[in-house]
Amino acid sequence: MEQVTCNLCGETQLTHVYEQPDTLFDITDWFCIVGCARCGLGFVNPRPAPAQMTHYYPPAFFSEFENSGAHQNRYAAQAALLASAAEKANGAQPLLLDIGCANGDFPRFMRDRGWRVEGLEVSPNALAITDFPVHRVHLPELTLDAPHYDAITAWAVLEHVHDPRAYFTKAAKLLKPGGQFAFLVTNFESLSSRALFNEDIPRHLYFFTENTLRAYLADAGLEVQKILFDQAIFEMTPVNVLYYIWAKLRRRPLLWRDTPESRHLYIQRKGLTRGASATLRYAITHPLAAIDRCAAMLYARWQMRQKSYGIITVVARKPAS
Ligand SMILES: [Zn+2]
Repeated sequence: MEQVTCNLCGETQLTHVYEQPDTLFDITDWFCIVGCARCGLGFVNPRPAPAQMTHYYPPAFFSEFENSGAHQNRYAAQAALLASAAEKANGAQPLLLDIGCANGDFPRFMRDRGWRVEGLEVSPNALAITDFPVHRVHLPELTLDAPHYDAITAWAVLEHVHDPRAYFTKAAKLLKPGGQFAFLVTNFESLSSRALFNEDIPRHLYFFTENTLRAYLADAGLEVQKILFDQAIFEMTPVNVLYYIWAKLRRRPLLWRDTPESRHLYIQRKGLTRGASATLRYAITHPLAAIDRCAAMLYARWQMRQKSYGIITVVARKPAS
């Protein structure tokens, strides 16, 4: 484990936000989430060092990519954000770099729409890709250092990395003037991220706000084009909101131990197969959690209207001159 200071502003004064275990794979492994007292960036501290992370990404983590053929709507929403980079290419084939491309389905989707594509993927558990170039390094280690791409994308990637600043800086260097950087991260201003235990700890190491993202982009010399708070690409369902309200009524913070066992942990503990019947068993044995899940659907709609949804999607642009 390693101790870190704020990656955005260097501040060493940190505030404790909450603690929780790894609820996906090892419930005995606990982590502390802190916020920077100066800029508001959130992060896991202390955190596993880069070399220790493989332990937190077992092959099961990547199995969800196997049926990613079903994500056409998500890819279409992602592609729509890159319209200006495509236009700017002026009839020439624009070039895309997709950071964290996993099995490569989003780059293929873009290739089918006229783009030339490259990917970047560090996980040895992602499938081999032979139909387009894939860089098997972390973005800051890419040897290329000059403007090269018309668009760079990072869908749910920057919250996983150990040095977000190096990613923003490198992305800005690699974009051609007028090129776009589109990415999606979780939103630390949202109750879902800050208080409801909806983050994937410790795979998520950083928690961004609109202001911290604007600061990273400005430091890298990129202009914000669009900031969205919706679930067009990924969802963060605000589960535990009823438990949060109940804790508030009793004037205490919501602790992880006050939240109900998640459906995922229930299925894991009982050795069930994921599916409708396991979900039904969970709902019968955890009726309050089932009601909370229904409430979460309504609360998510309210969050999107208030721009406090758990996901932020950003499109930035490198100035044309
Ligand atoms: Zn800071």
